[in-house]
Amino acid sequence: MIPPAFDYHAPLSVADAVRLLGSLGPDAKLLAGGHSLLPMMKLRFAQPSHLIDLGKIPDLRGIAQVGSEVHIGAMTTEHDLLNSTLLAAKLPLLVEGAGWIADPQVRYKGTIGGDISHGDPGNDHPALMLALDASFVLNGPRGERVVKADGFFQGLYATLLEPDEILTQIRVPIPAAGSGGSYQKLKRKTGDFATAATAVMLRMEGGVVAEVRIALTNVAATALRATAAEASLLGKAIDNSSLKAAATLAMSICDPVADQRGDADYKRAMCGEMTRRALQAALARTLKP
Ligand SMILES: Cc1cc2nc3c(=O)[nH]c(=O)nc-3n(C[C@H](O)[C@H](O)[C@H](O)COP(=O)(O)OP(=O)(O)OC[C@H]3O[C@@H](n4cnc5c(N)ncnc54)[C@H](O)[C@@H]3O)c2cc1C
Repeated sequence: MIPPAFDYHAPLSVADAVRLLGSLGPDAKLLAGGHSLLPMMKLRFAQPSHLIDLGKIPDLRGIAQVGSEVHIGAMTTEHDLLNSTLLAAKLPLLVEGAGWIADPQVRYKGTIGGDISHGDPGNDHPALMLALDASFVLNGPRGERVVKADGFFQGLYATLLEPDEILTQIRVPIPAAGSGGSYQKLKRKTGDFATAATAVMLRMEGGVVAEVRIALTNVAATALRATAAEASLLGKAIDNSSLKAAATLAMSICDPVADQRGDADYKRAMCGEMTRRALQAALARTLKP
C-alpha cells in the first residue's frame, strides 16, 4: 500500500525542527524510524501533509553517562541500545527490553523516542521507562521542559507531548548498586507485540524488599505502574506468598481488550504470571556479585 502524498522536510537542528513544526501546524508530523507512523499512513489512519524527518539531527542520537544518570537521544535506535556497553553495565534492563522489541529489521530503524512518543500501549519502552523512573526532555516553542515518565502516558496514543513539542532526550537514573531488573514478555511469535509483559526494578536490604517498581505493558489503554503491588512487597521477603499477592494486585488494575492475542481474562492472568516471573528474575539479579 502507498501512503498519501506529503511534503518532506529534513531539518539539521532541534531549533529548526521546532520552528518547522510550529509554522506547518497540525498538518505536519514528526518522522523518526517510521515503523509505527508509515504503517498508519498506509492504512490512512494518519494523513499528514508534511513529514519532518528528525533523522538528520546529530544531537538527537547517542548514549552518555552524565553524573548519576544515563542520557539517551530520542533518535537512538533499538539496535544502538542493544549494542551499548554503557547500557549493558549501567542499565541492563533497557538492553533486555530492547531485545524483546519486534525483530532485527524494525530494531535497525525504530527509535526509543518514537516508541515512547507514539503512546501505543503495546509498545515496550513505556513500561520500561516507568520501572526505571525515567524523565523525558520535551522541546517546543515555549522552550524546554523535563517531565517524569510517571504521568506522561495519558491514554490510547495520548501523552503529555503538545502537538508543537519534540521529545529530544530520555534521562534514566542509574539504579543503586545491588539492584536487579527484569522484563518478562509473553508474545505469540517473533515480531509480535506483547500479549502481556511486566518490567520490574528491585532492591533488597537484609533479605526484604527495600525498593521496587513494577510496570505493565498492553493490559490497558496505557502502560500502567502497579503501585499497590509495589506497596504490598515493601519490607517483605520475596516468597510464594508475597509473589502471589503482588501478582494478584497487578492483575486487579488490568483492563485489557480482547483481540487475536486472547480474551481479557487470559491477558489478565498472563499479566499476573509475567509479574511473578519478572520479580523472581529481578531478585536473582540482585544476588549477582
Ligand atoms: C512488525 C513490527 C513489530 C513491532 N513490534 C514492536 C514490539 O514488539 N514492541 C514495541 O515496542 N514496538 C514494536 N513495533 C513498533 C516499533 O518499535 C516502532 O519503531 C515504534 O513504535 C515507533 O518508533 P519510530 O522511531 O519508528 O517512530 P515513528 O513511527 O517515526 O513515529 C511514531 C509516532 O511518534 C511521533 N514521534 C516520533 N519521534 C518523536 C519525537 N522524538 N518527539 C515527538 N514525537 C515523535 C511521530 O510523529 C509518530 O506520531 C513494531 C513495529 C513493527 C512494524
